[in-house]
Amino acid sequence: MTQRTSSTPGPQGGTATERQIAEAEAHSAHNYHPLPVVIAEAEGAWVTDVEGRRYVDMLAGYSALNFGHAHPRLVAAAKAQLERVTLTSRAFHHDRFARFCAELAELCGMEMVLPMNTGAEAVETAVKTARKWGYRVKGVPDGQAKIIVADGNFHGRTTTIISFSTDPEARADFGPYTPGFEVVPYGDLAALEAAVDDSTVAVLLEPIQGEAGVLVPPPGYLAGVRRVTAERGVLFVADEIQSGLGRTGRTFACEHEGVVPDVYVLGKALGGGVVPVSAVVSSREVLGVFRPGEHGSTFGGNPLACAVGLEVVAMLRSGEYQGRAAELGDHLHAELAGLLGAGLLTQVRGRGLWAGLDIPPERGTGRAVSEDLLTRGVLVKDTHTETIRLAPPLVISKDDLDWSLDRLRASLARR
Ligand SMILES: *Cc1c(COP(=O)(O)O)cnc(C)c1O
Repeated sequence: MTQRTSSTPGPQGGTATERQIAEAEAHSAHNYHPLPVVIAEAEGAWVTDVEGRRYVDMLAGYSALNFGHAHPRLVAAAKAQLERVTLTSRAFHHDRFARFCAELAELCGMEMVLPMNTGAEAVETAVKTARKWGYRVKGVPDGQAKIIVADGNFHGRTTTIISFSTDPEARADFGPYTPGFEVVPYGDLAALEAAVDDSTVAVLLEPIQGEAGVLVPPPGYLAGVRRVTAERGVLFVADEIQSGLGRTGRTFACEHEGVVPDVYVLGKALGGGVVPVSAVVSSREVLGVFRPGEHGSTFGGNPLACAVGLEVVAMLRSGEYQGRAAELGDHLHAELAGLLGAGLLTQVRGRGLWAGLDIPPERGTGRAVSEDLLTRGVLVKDTHTETIRLAPPLVISKDDLDWSLDRLRASLARR
């Protein structure tokens, strides 16, 4: 079923896959380099392509699909809301909004929520929040607010966010850049502490850097950042868009170090893989800085988004998905340690159902391994040259996980 030889030529020549890819390349901007598979349907951890081949999805939309494809509870919540009301704009109240904000705040142990749509918008919102808090509450002189970020960061693609990216691909040709950010090495507490000054309003970090290759900071780092930011009156803003909502085996990756930041930035899985839902979640002191008209979004906090987000929060409240991620994650990392021991990998990083694997150069690039795994019925994606990322849906069965790992082992061993 997963053999590429089952492709059937279409009327215009080439397989259905080839024709759809050619058409996409002709009519869409080339801002991505997707693997050559055209997905038509999906359920749980499995997707089916236009030619009927099935694959295990070991990427899960970079954590947007933590609950798998078409989770019945999320589909039901979306369908029910589709037939009631989908959009009001924030010009009016709607009857899903209050509960979504209250229950998300409670899940986070916080007081207030500012809902947006995409992750990048939520990060932008956090940047604006921190600056405004800096001027209004901390008393930083107007226009001086500084935000400390880490090298290797990934916080999204807007002009302000790429201004503090250290990835030339993300940044080059998109200037002039937004000032007000200082980059320090990720995982280096002394460097971060030295960068804090009187105009510093926030430290913005991913508790585990996903895009950089699932980099877990050294033990004690996040706790150290929490201590330094608390001592210096600086907000600790945790971008948990990819790491949060169950992925690492806890609701938030910060929990592994017993850390509670001042601000959570959430996205991806918050929309259940159904709609884009993001949010900034914080205290009344911090999010209370906004007055009507100062920030917003037409779609942010819409009824459909809130209905799906509410179901996501309800699912996370049970702890079931975090538990699965912890248990299957231990199994995943034990298996990957075996591949490392066998010399099939040069490094493995990660936490829970999340791993970055470095491929020995003689066994091919991350891209080559991803393409080979595609022919074996497993979807993964490379990041940088030598790394592939595994982030299966938290609903994956142990058998399907093992099936995928067997194929990974075979793919690496064949080179
Ligand atoms: C994906 C991601 C973003 C950006 O989210 P979009 O929805 O793609 O805008 C921001 N931060 C992190 C850590 C992410 O993984």
